[in-house]
Amino acid sequence: MKLWHFNGGLPSLAEHKNESVNLPIEIAPVPTRLIYPLRQHIGNAAKPLVKVGDKVLCGQKIADAQGMISAPIHAGSSGTVISIADHLIPHPSGFSAPSITIETDGLDNEIELTPHTSFRQLAAGELVDLIREAGIVGLGGAAFPTAIKLNTQGKTIQIDTLILNGAECEPYISCDDRLLKERANRVVEGIEILLYMTGAKRAILAIEDNVPDTFTSIQAAIANNQNPIISAAQIPTIYPTGGEKQLIQTLTGKEVPSGKIPADIGIVSINVGTVHAIQQAIIKGKPLTSRVVTITGEGVNKPHNLEVRIGTPIKALIDVCHGYTKHAERLIMGGPMMGFALLNDEIPIVKATNCILVASKQEVVTEKQAMPCIRCGLCASVCPVSLLPQQLYWFSRSEQLEKAERLNLFDCIECGCCDVACPSHIPLVQHFRYAKSALKVQNHEKHLSNVARERFEAREERIARDKAERAERSRKKKAALKSKPAKEEIDAAVNRSKAKKNSTEGED
Ligand code: SF4
Ligand code: SF4
Repeated sequence: MKLWHFNGGLPSLAEHKNESVNLPIEIAPVPTRLIYPLRQHIGNAAKPLVKVGDKVLCGQKIADAQGMISAPIHAGSSGTVISIADHLIPHPSGFSAPSITIETDGLDNEIELTPHTSFRQLAAGELVDLIREAGIVGLGGAAFPTAIKLNTQGKTIQIDTLILNGAECEPYISCDDRLLKERANRVVEGIEILLYMTGAKRAILAIEDNVPDTFTSIQAAIANNQNPIISAAQIPTIYPTGGEKQLIQTLTGKEVPSGKIPADIGIVSINVGTVHAIQQAIIKGKPLTSRVVTITGEGVNKPHNLEVRIGTPIKALIDVCHGYTKHAERLIMGGPMMGFALLNDEIPIVKATNCILVASKQEVVTEKQAMPCIRCGLCASVCPVSLLPQQLYWFSRSEQLEKAERLNLFDCIECGCCDVACPSHIPLVQHFRYAKSALKVQNHEKHLSNVARERFEAREERIARDKAERAERSRKKKAALKSKPAKEEIDAAVNRSKAKKNSTEGED
């Protein structure tokens, strides 16, 4: 299969896959408490459907989507709702946010599921609804509600290519790789469902060339399925080849334009973990209540790939991994490049959690003293989005945020390649994250002030219009009065008419 290259990237980044890639998926025990932050995805937070004291079953919907970009949340086991209150959430801010906590009863009683083994008997729109109701979001880390990506109704551009992202380019993480090795048939059935829904003419499952045995197992599953429009592609191991836009470019040679989405060029791209969740939701009727998570790093005694109930506190998983080692230095959600540090292990696993890295001092990218920029240009040469990190840094640092925005700051995928390449150890991504959030606040404030100004102008216009209308009414009234015959004239006319009448009667 012909492949293309994206700009930059890091071909020789230490992978650290060996620590976990050969560990089969094990089922983690149900913890005593499950904690569900109501905001687990991009868009609006979910709205609770339960109250404290309610009994719930595994798979029961406990919070519903609010608005278009949102997803419902389902209980991961049976038990009792013991609180709906703020709890620490997995977020770089370290904030707490409203969360539902369930005390599990150890019974793991489940709701009655409705399987749809003959999915072709349903219309594409009905399948989209089932996926939305199952609470499925992108499990590759972005957590975008999947139903929105798959809803082709009212779209003018036909989906031509379906890309299944099995390129797990971030170091340490191996959950998708294990899923492809162990549950390849389910993933291929999920691809069949997606092909039926989107009407795409081909599906390509991408896997990096550093896991040849995974490629073999997925090829066997594809051969077994005998659908000629599904294929697998081995792509070069270059970080961040698993980035959505980078993968599309590698497989099709097409670039998703700045500010556009893949569907605008006829492509839908879905992570393989999400494909597995879709297959389970349609064929088995199972909502998204669990996912595979890699627990790894020098800070845990026994790394694992675990199938975990979403909502499980990290501490319970560390116990499964035989606890922390003396080297444990930092808890990171995600990988070392794009992940973020967590405050403690009371924080729960959410839908987007693909890895918990318990990093030692050596594994943490140590923050070295930043030196002045020497304009070497290395950051630009590795940027996979062809940005100019040096200029972005300059504008972000000097608070010239609009200039940074004009240089496509929002296209930055925060991959960290520029950080790694910079000989001056400038924490460029930190600056970009700050600039993006400052710009978002600034743009939001600008939007609010525009709305307020438009309202003010509309009010002023309405007052002026009312005033003009009143003036016009009064002018017309005056004119009418002016044109009315004077009272005396009317009286005289009445008298004349009476006199005429009297004289006529006399003659008679
Ligand atoms: S973090 Fe942003 S600017 Fe830096 S290399 Fe990645 S995409 Fe480019
Ligand atoms: S790599 Fe670092 S030192 Fe070199 S141009 Fe970029 S920011 Fe400046």
